[in-house]
Amino acid sequence: MARITLDKLAHSYKPNPSGPGDYALKEIDHVWRQGGAYALLGPSGCGKTTLLNIISGLVTPTRGRILFDDDDVTGRPTEARNIAQVFQFPVVYDTMTVRENLAFPLKNRGVARDVIRRRVDEIAGLLDLTRSLDRKASNLTADAKQKISLGRGLVRPDVAAILFDEPLTVIDPHLKWQLRSTLKELHRRLDITMIYVTHDQTEALTFADTVVVMHDGAVVQAGTPDQLFDRPAHTFVGHFIGSPGMNVLPCRVDGALATVEGHPVTLAHAYPALDAARVELGIRPEFIRLAPRGAGLPVRVRRIDDIGRARIARVELGACALSAMAPDGVALDGDEASLSLDPSRIHVYADGRLVAPAGA
Ligand code: ADP
Ligand code: MG
Repeated sequence: MARITLDKLAHSYKPNPSGPGDYALKEIDHVWRQGGAYALLGPSGCGKTTLLNIISGLVTPTRGRILFDDDDVTGRPTEARNIAQVFQFPVVYDTMTVRENLAFPLKNRGVARDVIRRRVDEIAGLLDLTRSLDRKASNLTADAKQKISLGRGLVRPDVAAILFDEPLTVIDPHLKWQLRSTLKELHRRLDITMIYVTHDQTEALTFADTVVVMHDGAVVQAGTPDQLFDRPAHTFVGHFIGSPGMNVLPCRVDGALATVEGHPVTLAHAYPALDAARVELGIRPEFIRLAPRGAGLPVRVRRIDDIGRARIARVELGACALSAMAPDGVALDGDEASLSLDPSRIHVYADGRLVAPAGA
């Protein structure tokens, strides 16, 4: 078991990279603490699989180092890294039985037969594969095959970390919930570092203690689900997490006063003078109240969507579109309404990055 440190890690698939656009990963510094349950979250193409493959040794980074505790493993092959990895699609030996498949990673390392048997029985029990243990893998469904792949990743109790790369993609939706909580439960029992890659925020937020958000080859924020929700370090995080995500509105900021579409918005703190191409105000729909026309920012209501647990109003403030929660029983006078924003929930961003208030 180990703490995993990424030290100025960068990777390009091009033989002669020139600009930042040639890099799939752009200088990542990050520490995964021993025993953490991590989700690595980001949209397709942002570099999640590349990062995972660099940690496991399938890909050698263009620059930078990977340390397991204080041990530099950068040039070492996968076999010498003591890492288990589960891929998006099943990796099983069709000619073997389920039991032989599950036993394979242990047998390969010369583990005693009775230990293997006990361990395989335990993992099969957890994944509900016990009844299939003696069947040939080739005869099983895609779900069952992926469960075998998961089992092979989980079967070794002595690994430094287990890496899951969107492991539930092929799994039937009703089984997904169950398997996710099985993995979470296993993490609690095993105390092994787990990194779970997903592009699905619900999956990330339910599995992880710490969510690491990637965007465009970089780690933009790592934090608890609450931290990501309450204080997005980057407009991308605010947008990507939450449903709907944080509103991002172009503005001017002067001390503790912002101006949005010509309207004044009071901030909870004063901000330093901002020298940025883009200054924006971020506020989640949950912290905006929609009310009949009156005091507050004058908006035009375009539509109201009922999403089951809440109603969300899509409104326009001048040329800016934004979302706000619409409390039940608000009678609107035509499509005109007003918004009030909770100042303590407003964040200021300069070129996408969160700005600390003056003196903070
Ligand atoms: P994710 O897993 O987040 O979807 P990837 O790590 O697979 O992202 O990809 C990151 C970027 O690197 C993408 O632009 C992708 O096209 C590129 N890429 C991934 N694998 C290869 C490869 N083997 N050769 C060249 N480019 C690659
Ligand atoms: Mg991927």
